[in-house]
Amino acid sequence: RTGRAVGGSVVTYDPDRHGDTHGLLSTVAELRHGIAAGQLRVHFQPQLHSGDGTLSGVEALVRWQHPVRGLLAPGEFLDVAESHGLMDAVTQEVLRQSVAQQAAWRRRGLVVRMSVNLSAGTLLDASLPETVAALLARHDVPATSLVLEVTETALLREPERSLAVVEALGALGVQGSIDDFGTGYSSLTQLRQLPVSELKLDRSFTADLLSDPRAAAIVAHTVGLAHALQLRVVAEGVEDEETLAALTGLGCDETQGFLHARPLPAPEFEAWCAAREGAVPGPRSPVSAG
Ligand code: C2E
Ligand code: MG
Ligand code: MG
Ligand code: MG
Repeated sequence: RTGRAVGGSVVTYDPDRHGDTHGLLSTVAELRHGIAAGQLRVHFQPQLHSGDGTLSGVEALVRWQHPVRGLLAPGEFLDVAESHGLMDAVTQEVLRQSVAQQAAWRRRGLVVRMSVNLSAGTLLDASLPETVAALLARHDVPATSLVLEVTETALLREPERSLAVVEALGALGVQGSIDDFGTGYSSLTQLRQLPVSELKLDRSFTADLLSDPRAAAIVAHTVGLAHALQLRVVAEGVEDEETLAALTGLGCDETQGFLHARPLPAPEFEAWCAAREGAVPGPRSPVSAG
């Protein structure tokens, strides 16, 4: 830290603060450029039916292929996107890539539900339903095979406006999902009017399930109430077989987590599917070549 005289006054130079400001500004500029330059990537993580372990859906998760810093996780850039007006651009890009990928898979016989995450800000965008409808039509993907995940916190920030957007999406046939359920302050009874068809049990319950009887009680209760409301329950963050067995025993319909697969780039996801079920005929596979 150095003081230096400027026009008779002393300006304190704080390298930390200066560094932060510079870092943030450059991140915003780089992200804006990166989105336009096609640096966002979407990785896909499978969701499996609890009963027979077959593929039930796929969650699309964004990454940023930064030219210098490498592949960045959403936790490293989504806050900046949200606070600097770039989230709608991120969402559009993720939706575009996800729906296009889903269409490509469908053409090759892999018909799978696709979940995409929406931020709180995106939920206030009244033009989102129109954008989604156009995208689905362009790629000839049925609305019912798209799931949009929103968190309780996002929904409750501006309940009326976000509810209107969720309802308009529901009217298209798009499914709604409550992500990270149990971490917000809402209850299922408060959410009963929402046109959603899925609830994703937060990873913290999955993580504590075997060691904390209270976590197990919450899961059991949530599954019971969700099923009474005709909602499917997906448990996230499943990392071991014992937890999978416990979640299945408690009635969770589907599970997602590193036990099955990490979020993967499309070609690796296809290889994962092929290794599991031999079910993804690819144009480049030796069997179908020619
Ligand atoms: P989320 O929607 O709850 O996604 C699940 C996160 O848990 C992902 O982290 C995933 O990689 C991670 N995960 C999956 N299985 C396991 C497991 O078994 N153990 C552990 N420890 N973690 C697991 P990721 O990809 O870093 O995403 C973090 C969050 O960023 C997401 O949480 C979501 O809220 C947000 N996000 C990701 N992609 C998008 C996007 O395209 N748009 C928006 N608005 N948000 C996104
Ligand atoms: Mg999610
Ligand atoms: Mg989640
Ligand atoms: Mg989560």
